[in-house]
Amino acid sequence: MRTVYVNGEYLPENEAKVSIFDRGFLMADGVYEVTSVLDGKLIDFDGHAVRLSRSLDALDMASPVTKDELLAINRELVTLNDITDGMIYLQVTRGAPNDRDFAFPDPDETPSTIVLFTQDKPGLADNPVALKGIKVISIDDIRWGRRDIKTVQLLYPSMGKMMAKAAGADDAWMVEDGFVTEGTSNNAYIVKNGKIITRELSTDILHGITRAAVLRFAKESQMVVEERNFTIQEAQEADEAFITSASTFVMPVVEIDGEKIGKGTPGRVAPRLREIYLEESRKVAI
Ligand code: PMP
Repeated sequence: MRTVYVNGEYLPENEAKVSIFDRGFLMADGVYEVTSVLDGKLIDFDGHAVRLSRSLDALDMASPVTKDELLAINRELVTLNDITDGMIYLQVTRGAPNDRDFAFPDPDETPSTIVLFTQDKPGLADNPVALKGIKVISIDDIRWGRRDIKTVQLLYPSMGKMMAKAAGADDAWMVEDGFVTEGTSNNAYIVKNGKIITRELSTDILHGITRAAVLRFAKESQMVVEERNFTIQEAQEADEAFITSASTFVMPVVEIDGEKIGKGTPGRVAPRLREIYLEESRKVAI
């Protein structure tokens, strides 16, 4: 059984409890992070800690822990659960006032709730799916306008994954005003004539921690990166497509809405970026 962390305590997963009045539960008033663990070490802990602070600040929510405390909790959970490869899920909510009310509770009276748990995924970096790539469908992006805040409002992304599954695909890319925003739980890219194209950062998309690292490594490897909008049609006509996220790293996309990308198999750029990302990230994992 897993040991999880809830509000200062390490407990067996079936003993960890959160109030029914918790605003995460009643209002999706909470933010989260997913950090990968490879070889027992945290991948880009710093990036995730910084984004957590940004999300909390944007929602005027106090951080229940310092960055050092957070690192210590992450490491303790990796040790207690004997995680070699996997993920750590972290969620902070605006806490549990003693009743349901739309108004935010006084933070002095209602401390935020913090929960962390591990997900054991042996061989996470050797996912065989990366060798053949994934298929995506396009769906309308009907999410709210602050997608740069990593909130736990994941109903539409969940529905998107279900729509993909029903269509025989693996995931969905969301489209707004004719342009791809991002995947349901990842950032979206295409490659044309060696150039890596991805939507620029704004409130329209989550500022992926993996995105930042991959684009940095790409530029360091003399690859050209263009941050701009692209359409589904342009993606279908691209040489390659791929996604990035903390748990899939870099994953080739080989089909969009039934149209094969390139030859319908992973090209050269995405697998190379995956290799570089994994290698460089492991080097600086803590
Ligand atoms: N966009 C969305 C909507 C996501 O949910 C995620 C992953 N949580 C990402 C992008 C990728 O972000 P990261 O690389 O930090 O995992």
